[in-house]
Formats: sequence, structure tokens, C-alpha cells
Amino acid sequence: MRCFDLNTEKTYAQFLDEQDDLKSFRDEFYIPGETIYFDGNSLGLLSKQAEESLEILLNSWKRHAIDGWTEGVEPWFYLSEKLGKMTAPLVGANTEEVIVTGSTTTNLHQLVSTFYKPHGKKTKILADELNFPSDIYALKSQLKIKGYDPSEHLVQVQSQDGNTLKTDDIIKAMTDDVALIMLPGVLYRSGQILDMQTLTKEAHRRGIVIGFDLCHSIGSIPHHLSEWGVDFAFWCNYKHLNGGPGSVAGLYVNKKYFGNEPGLAGWFSSSKEKQFDMSHTLTQAWDAGAYQIGTPHVLSAAPLLGSLKVFQEAGIDRVRKKSLHLTKYMMELIESELSDYHFTIANPKDDATRGGHIFLEHEEAARICKALKADKVIPDFRTPNGIRLAPVALYNTFEEVWETVMILKTIMKEERYKKYENKRGVIA
Ligand SMILES: *Cc1c(COP(=O)(O)O)cnc(C)c1O
Repeated sequence: MRCFDLNTEKTYAQFLDEQDDLKSFRDEFYIPGETIYFDGNSLGLLSKQAEESLEILLNSWKRHAIDGWTEGVEPWFYLSEKLGKMTAPLVGANTEEVIVTGSTTTNLHQLVSTFYKPHGKKTKILADELNFPSDIYALKSQLKIKGYDPSEHLVQVQSQDGNTLKTDDIIKAMTDDVALIMLPGVLYRSGQILDMQTLTKEAHRRGIVIGFDLCHSIGSIPHHLSEWGVDFAFWCNYKHLNGGPGSVAGLYVNKKYFGNEPGLAGWFSSSKEKQFDMSHTLTQAWDAGAYQIGTPHVLSAAPLLGSLKVFQEAGIDRVRKKSLHLTKYMMELIESELSDYHFTIANPKDDATRGGHIFLEHEEAARICKALKADKVIPDFRTPNGIRLAPVALYNTFEEVWETVMILKTIMKEERYKKYENKRGVIA
């Protein structure tokens, strides 16, 4: 792994920044005072374009009041569809297969209640033991709603090393009694990318529907959901997509299911033309719009208009290329500079399965994170011993990667972390 001609000089990092064809995007973002922000995979930063789009929608409320639904620069009635269209290239879907709506967890509920149709001996849901808790809570409650005991009907693929999943282990778990599979595209701790294409193919060979949670992959890696034939997917927009805290989320439904009744219907599931007929019989939208429920959270969706424009300008392939370079450079510096301090690089190292962040394990992780914050580096801690560092292609620099590794080296050498308790804060 270690590259023997690795140049550990700061000037080399500066050289890489000069060569970076995305470097101008950093000026689009508000970087919080003097910090090195490596937490963009938890909450992405505000861009000037996102700020502007929020102001535009706030103004349409001010100026147009109720008429803002159909008038003004961005009529609210069509906003979710417009944002879905703008998101589609990031997930590799047809425009009508994507809608911006709900939250990650409510979209999971919507899609599982739509796609989970236990019948005969096919009653189980297959997930994994490394997924984010909210997803697992939601799957368990969906099972209970259908009258099944989650302790028997939720199967969670085990990890062999505690951080990653093996494609073969997942395939082996695709037994005859599985009705639906729900997995992350990128694992939230180790950043491992799952082979969504192979998993989809293998699920379909066994007559199982499969969906992915793209929270940690959207805006970080390219996807080809339509081409891969993925049945459904959902994601949040406040991590790599920089849509702001509590930003409205997104979902994808493969067009072969258009017309399937939404598990959780509401008046925004309607065809736009029929919605205001006020009939008690739903005429659902012909496309992914049918999986909306109620009135869109317009002001929480507004920043996405701007932030998705930033992605249109940068292009996800360029974002991925730089991201791989940043994380590779970071791993090489860590291996060369921190070898005395017992860190384990626990994310996958190869380009094909490495997502957008570095995951370091260390038994003092909680207080090392506190020491990093005191030195104005913003990481995030994942219990019990993980440090996530996300150098984000749109606004982080190679020099920041270099600085961070050097700061970490000083913290370890001078044992500065010992000033703090090895315990997490409320949010970490
Ligand atoms: C961030 C994240 C969530 C958060 O769900 P919300 O409904 O937005 O609170 C859920 N699942 C995964 C895998 C995540 O990474």
C-alpha cells in the first residue's frame, strides 16, 4: 500500500491543490471559522448557491403567500419533482424515478411498506449487522406491522471483521424465505462500498426485491440504479449533498413498479392534475411522485436547489476522482507519519470499495477526537473506537489533509489527548 516515493512535505500538498481542477468550488462554501472541516459526511457545509435558493423561496412566501404554490421563481407545487429531476443523475436513474420527499427513515418506511409483500414461505427481511440503527428500528417496526416477530424474521448478515461485509456472505443469506433485502450503499462507519450491481443481480435471480440506503454514497460516488435494475433506494440530502440540517430527503423507485400502490398514501401521492379534485379515491401519480405522502417541507428543500446546481457544475465523476485522491493521500500520510501510534486504518483501502471517508480505529478515539477539535480539526467519533475523517472533494484541500495528519502526530507525540475524558459527547 505504502507508496515509496510519497512526498511528505507540505509543499507537495500545496502542489496537489494547485493541480486540482475542482479547487475553485471551495469558494462556493462557508467554511466555519479557521477550522479544517472533515465532517461533511455527517452534515455538509452551506454553499452560497444553497443560501441563495433558500432566500428565493423565503421571498416567494413573503411576496406571494398562498399563490407561491403556483407562482414565483420556483413554484412550490412542482418543487419536489424538479429536485428529483436534478438528483436523478447522481443516482443514475431516469428523472421520473426520483422524487425529493420525506426523510431517510420515513422514506424507508414508505418503500418497505410498499415493497415488502410477504407471501408463502417468503416472509423474511434481509439486512446487515453494521447498518445505522434507524434503518434497523424501521425494519423491525415494518415486520411487526405485518404481524411478524423481528427476532425471527429480520436476518442480519454478520461481518467477519466487525467493519465490512463480504458479498458472498450476503449472497449466501439470500435464502428461499427472504422476501426483501435492504442494505446500505456505503457503510456509515467503515465507508465500505457494497457491490450494488452484483447484489441486485443475485437477489433478482432468487426472486427477491432489493433496495439500498444511499445516505453515505449519494454525492460521494456515482451510481447506476436504473442500469443495475435496483428496485428501490432512499437517502438523506444533508450529508455529502449539503442540503442543510434536516434537509428533505430523496427516494428512487424503478419504473417497472410505476402504478404499484404506495404502502403509505397521502394526498401528495396524487397525480398533480387530480390532487385538487378532493376525491376520496386516490388517483396516484404515474411516476415516483406517487410515493410522496403530505405537503412538502418547502423551506427545508429549498437549499437543495442551489446545492444540486453545484453538483451539476462539478460533476459526480470529477468529485469521485478527487475524493479517491484525497483519501489515498490521507492513508499514505497516516501510514508514513503515524506508524508509532497504534492507529488502524479500518476502511477498505482499494479504490473499488473505498467510499468518501477514512475510518481510523484507536482505543483512545473519543479523546483523540476532542484533542483534534481543540486544534480546530472537525472529525467525528463513532463509538466505541472510531474516528471518521471525511475530506470532501468540493471544499477540502490536500493541504488540510496534510495539516490534519501533522496535528494528529503532535497530539499523539505530546499525549495531548490525555487532558480529556475518553467518553463521547451527546452528539458524536
Ligand atoms: C444519516 C443516516 C440516517 C439518518 O436518517 P434520518 O431519517 O435522516 O434521520 C439513516 N440511515 C443511515 C444509513 C444514515 O447514514
